[in-house]
Amino acid sequence: AVTAPTDNGDPRGSTADGHRIALLANIGGAAELAGACVEGVGLFRTELLFQHHVDPPGLDEQVTAYEQVFAAMPGRRVVVRTFDAGSDKPLPFLSAGDEPNPALGIRGLRVVRRRAEILGTQIAAIAAAARSSQARVEVMAPMVTTVAEAAQFAALCRDAGLATVGVMIEVPAAAVRAAQILGAVDFLSIGTNDLSQYAFAADRRSGELADLLDPWQPALLSLVALCAAAGSAAGRPVGVCGEAAADPAFAVVLAGLGVTSLSMTPAAVPPVRAALAAYTLEEARMAAQQALAATDPAAARAAVSRF
Ligand code: PEP
Ligand code: MG
Repeated sequence: AVTAPTDNGDPRGSTADGHRIALLANIGGAAELAGACVEGVGLFRTELLFQHHVDPPGLDEQVTAYEQVFAAMPGRRVVVRTFDAGSDKPLPFLSAGDEPNPALGIRGLRVVRRRAEILGTQIAAIAAAARSSQARVEVMAPMVTTVAEAAQFAALCRDAGLATVGVMIEVPAAAVRAAQILGAVDFLSIGTNDLSQYAFAADRRSGELADLLDPWQPALLSLVALCAAAGSAAGRPVGVCGEAAADPAFAVVLAGLGVTSLSMTPAAVPPVRAALAAYTLEEARMAAQQALAATDPAAARAAVSRF
């Protein structure tokens, strides 16, 4: 029997020679999945659902919100990120408000130091919503810095019944210890927005420092390469979910570095899919080597575009 194509076409991403690179969506809620042609959700930014809440959302309210997203992706992967509060994403019910430098303070997973009950309720809600859904639900924590933090988060999630647990790589200390972190979790997802901010000591919202925040900076590529190599040695997935994954030429470089999935705003997926399909894995690897060997972002871009 011939399977009828869906209205959205084939969502799968792969290189010209058939090496699979999963193409996933970055979303803040179910509405952004309408009409999206994606293989799943690679980053569900749960904090966006509750950004105006003065009190912490209760268990039932969270279960309902997560179920809506899971219902849109039956049989597909949905990576739920626990609340990333603080710094550029303050949450009234979570953000400390007493820090001179919030980007270097209690944000992401670090809220567990002050408000462990909020993370506990959220993990319970994700697990409950996952149990009643057809989606392949996975969970990950933002702003993880050490192996100990990754292990603590994984234990909390597994105790709640969530089998597949990952962490975001956004802090350089975590990137250089990617291999050890993979001893504690099932997958990594590199957040290039914050990894650039912390690797280059440059506020991600500063237009004046845009040159430092350029994802083609060879030092950022080196950090991504380190994580991807750790993933391939461990046989574990390593994705990228920062905005940089939406640049088609950069996506080819990421594939060549060994990244296994790319997650981006849904509208950016079709051109990235087309770019990946135009090169073999070996060509993507050669492009990645050219970019890594460049001395600055302009040279890296030029080398890849010549290629
Ligand atoms: C990132 O930091 O790259 C990321 C994907 O997370 P956010 O942009 O939500 O901080
Ligand atoms: Mg981030």
